[in-house]
Amino acid sequence: MSLLVVGSLALDTIETPFGKTKETLGGSAVYISTAASYFASPVRLVGVVGGDFPKSAITFLEERNIELEGLQTIQNGKTFRWSGKYHYDLNMRDTLFTQLNVFEKFDPKIPEVYRKSKYVCLGNIDPILQRKVLEQIEKPKLIIGDTMNFWIEGKRDELMKTMKHFDVLIINESEARLLTQEPNLIRAGKKVIGMGPKILIIKKGEHGALLITDSTIFSAPAYPMEDIYDPTGAGDTFAGGFIGWLEKSDDISDENLKKAVVYGSAMASFCVEKFGVDGLRELTYLKIQDRFRSFRDLVKF
Ligand code: AMP
Repeated sequence: MSLLVVGSLALDTIETPFGKTKETLGGSAVYISTAASYFASPVRLVGVVGGDFPKSAITFLEERNIELEGLQTIQNGKTFRWSGKYHYDLNMRDTLFTQLNVFEKFDPKIPEVYRKSKYVCLGNIDPILQRKVLEQIEKPKLIIGDTMNFWIEGKRDELMKTMKHFDVLIINESEARLLTQEPNLIRAGKKVIGMGPKILIIKKGEHGALLITDSTIFSAPAYPMEDIYDPTGAGDTFAGGFIGWLEKSDDISDENLKKAVVYGSAMASFCVEKFGVDGLRELTYLKIQDRFRSFRDLVKF
């Protein structure tokens, strides 16, 4: 089987109440493919970076066996940069800047062998680019799309067109409200299902995640943690764990979607324990299974 991941590769500058990092490896495609690489094979990444993208970041992705044939490098361009500052309440984040740089003129080219990928995850990038990717691939088994307030507010019409092709949409609770203009999350969920995706996942930060389909509502808790250092990428890591598990098991039944939500939550819990991608550097499948079981214990009564 196979998983195609398209999204941003970034240099992130992050400030949390516990520390700061400058120009550290990030981006939606990086978090998604790294998390998915613990389950799925092959993981194929498509994106763009500038000549300033560090060699150590390429080595990191290669060591996770992520295929990089679809990664374009614009030697005289600058890599996408994003900066965020978290409040004392880590659920609250201000975006300090978004510099699209090489993403402004990005024209995604999907390598021939990637076009038949069975699972596709479109990370948070311009919805027009997400559609350009979909135009190049053969009908996959499952298309998962992510987005964020930046695109909901800036390119709503384009996003609505793109969303019609998604089987699964993953967004956080404030984005669900913004997208549907509906304060109640269950009603918001039903509205999203009318917009195209048959499956909706609403991430609720430290309050877990909701899975909504026509026939199911499932609520997974977040792992109770005392030390959360950096929530950046938790949402993308969730998406990577979720689709990684679906690709590995090749089963999109409601029961297995629930398991995938718990694997996504388990991966996100590792991500927030350290800054940037550090929490995902040295995991093992056994460690992930252990955390999956802790989630089971958490809700057994
Ligand atoms: P998350 O914390 O899951 O929302 O993801 C944060 C990651 O998304 C960071 O590593 C950023 O580099 C990336 N990111 C933030 N804004 C954008 C954007 N407008 N387009 C693409 N990627 C973005």
